[in-house]
Amino acid sequence: MIINKINKKVIKRGQEKSIYLTFDDGPNEIYTPKILDILDEFGVKATFFVVGKNAERCPKIVKRIHREGHDIGNHTYSHPGSPLLKARKRRFIKKEIVKTDRVIENIIGERPILFRPPLAFWDISSGFLKRQAKEFGHLYIGWSFSTMDWLGNQFIIKKKYLQQPKNDGDIVLLHDGSENTLVKRRWATVKMLPEIIRDCRDNSLQPLPLTSSL
Ligand SMILES: [Zn+2]
Repeated sequence: MIINKINKKVIKRGQEKSIYLTFDDGPNEIYTPKILDILDEFGVKATFFVVGKNAERCPKIVKRIHREGHDIGNHTYSHPGSPLLKARKRRFIKKEIVKTDRVIENIIGERPILFRPPLAFWDISSGFLKRQAKEFGHLYIGWSFSTMDWLGNQFIIKKKYLQQPKNDGDIVLLHDGSENTLVKRRWATVKMLPEIIRDCRDNSLQPLPLTSSL
């Protein structure tokens, strides 16, 4: 199985259909443990793209994510709101990536291999970032299916995710934390997660952590 060139989907061989639930912007003291409890209850493994400064604040939760068999990816140290791609800012981006790698490695004893940039517009303007991630040995991961859960509204998640067709290999964007967004609460994500998992299973899609596709 391979994560394809644009990293929007996981292309794999074989019969079983898979889907990849990914959680960004945590860890968060309130929401991440609730999400981990639900994943555990359903026997589902997922991927958490953690923000370095949050990981530093909540090392016990990072350890729990790792201990329970989920993937941990790098989502920069401070979740900067702009790509800052001018040459003089490149050093800043490198620092954001390297610092977060160190924070994660210090907590779980492993360097992450997955990297997701913050905010969608980074994704659009990030040729440099992609090269940089590769240079640090990371796989650059986007998503193919946004639940729009950052709006913190269960109805929107229902409309945007549950009522839309999902495909084999889809990478689903969810949030256990909040950065650069007006809505800070993640109760909608917590409340809808059991339905999202049931929906995967109803569609014969097995939720897996991203590194299981490597
Ligand atoms: Zn983010």
